[in-house]
Amino acid sequence: MTGLDLLGAQQRNLFIGGTWREAASGARIEVIDPADGSVLTDVADASTEEAVEALDAAAAAQADWARTAPRERGEILRRAFDLLTERADDVAHLMSLEMGKPVAEAKGEVAYGSEFFRWYSEEAVRIHGRWMQAPAGGSRLLTVRKPVGPCLFITPWNFPLAMGTRKIGPAIAAGCTMVVKPASQTPLTMLALAAILEEVGLPAGVLNVVTTSSTGELSTALQADDRLRKVSFTGSTAVGRTLVAQSADQLQRLSMELGGNAPFLVFEDADLDAAVEGAMVAKMRNMGEACTSANRFLVHRSVAAEFGERLGERMGGLTLGRGQDDGVDVGPLIDEKALDGVTRLVQDAVDDGAHVVTGGSAPGGPGFFYSPTVLVDVPPASAINTQEIFGPVAPITTFETEAEAIERANATEYGLASYVYTRDLARTIRLAESLDFGMVGVNTGLVSNPAAPFGGMKASGFGREGGFEGIEEYLETTYVALPAD
Ligand code: NAP
Repeated sequence: MTGLDLLGAQQRNLFIGGTWREAASGARIEVIDPADGSVLTDVADASTEEAVEALDAAAAAQADWARTAPRERGEILRRAFDLLTERADDVAHLMSLEMGKPVAEAKGEVAYGSEFFRWYSEEAVRIHGRWMQAPAGGSRLLTVRKPVGPCLFITPWNFPLAMGTRKIGPAIAAGCTMVVKPASQTPLTMLALAAILEEVGLPAGVLNVVTTSSTGELSTALQADDRLRKVSFTGSTAVGRTLVAQSADQLQRLSMELGGNAPFLVFEDADLDAAVEGAMVAKMRNMGEACTSANRFLVHRSVAAEFGERLGERMGGLTLGRGQDDGVDVGPLIDEKALDGVTRLVQDAVDDGAHVVTGGSAPGGPGFFYSPTVLVDVPPASAINTQEIFGPVAPITTFETEAEAIERANATEYGLASYVYTRDLARTIRLAESLDFGMVGVNTGLVSNPAAPFGGMKASGFGREGGFEGIEEYLETTYVALPAD
């Protein structure tokens, strides 16, 4: 069994209240293979009424689910982790088909994404409040932790599994029910995940999955409903702003995992072998289509030429192709719009005075491919340095002093991931304290870890996913005042 076979025809539909069903209108959304533009399959296109029915199911299941023993919730997550791990090859193949990333990378996402289930299977039984004597004596202060209530999760296409599991895992552990709306371009992986959670015994109504082309209408209708208590969104800053505005009437709790513009700083004392290796990871994970992707390479003038040359050699040696083929390092971008966007940013940078070390164009032919590219002498103000590239392009600019590097790194509306390469411990501490980013990778190109609090600041949003912090997003606190006598 590989890829599409993982999902039965029935499961390419809506999953509401424990039942798989077609949209009443019969409408479907086509799922496109980004490697050649062909139609892979289709999924149900829900109406807003059907989205509200999903919330009905979540609301109906909430009270019983909140009363379920924490160990039972944890065991469900643990069984889902085991089953996902067992089916990793098939899930990865399916993800590669709809999203384009090489199967090996998709397997990496299955390993990463499933770990949120294992981590939160362990956290489900460690939710506790506190008991203390009031400072003035007499009364006792007690806190009770409760699930927030029904949630809406909206996820992007770039990590079709992991962006879901890092919401679903802590929500299940905390005792929340949910409606999940996956990206229309990559719904299949989420449907396969729902099928796995159904198979391991998640009660009906706890998880509901709705695919729709009327995404704006869905979020407007569900956020207007006072039964919805929480929205967790991963996607663009523009859509995040809309969801924050829509939350005002019902004052929903929010987690916003939005866009990024990660700086990758290489200092004169860096281990250049490690820096080039880390740059490949930070830039090329997911073809550069990651919120954590290194977007701006800021390199000390004394090592910039060597770094650019070596990165160019590595990037130029990568093999482009269909993600399911052997030996492929880099898959296609998600769609034509993405390809046009990357093409335009590179062209603008060249017009601004940048020089191409390798790549610099789309190879043409079917599919939405762009060649791995390294640019040097990129002016700091060029659009490629100020916008999210979301493609396999590494623009390099130089700096002279640490203060200049910090100032330039922080000169962005975003604040998600950042990376620094240096062997100087005192500098590392200064950088960690002065970079305005939710995450700082020190001599590593990979910050994502299910046990760590992933998240951003400024226009990259707020809230944390993963780690001990991740479950807090799904818990309310009731304080109980108890007189001692
Ligand atoms: P997007 O256009 O914002 O779409 C993300 C999700 O939002 C999709 O499910 C989309 O549905 C939905 N959506 C679109 N308009 C909506 C509306 N008015 N109301 C409610 N939902 C709406 O982002 P994208 O292009 O898919 O993803 C790339 C962005 O995500 C980048 O900016 C990236 O940095 C960010 N990202 C952030 C993180 C993080 O953790 N911070 C992680 C991954 C990605 P449809 O598919 O149906 O349009």
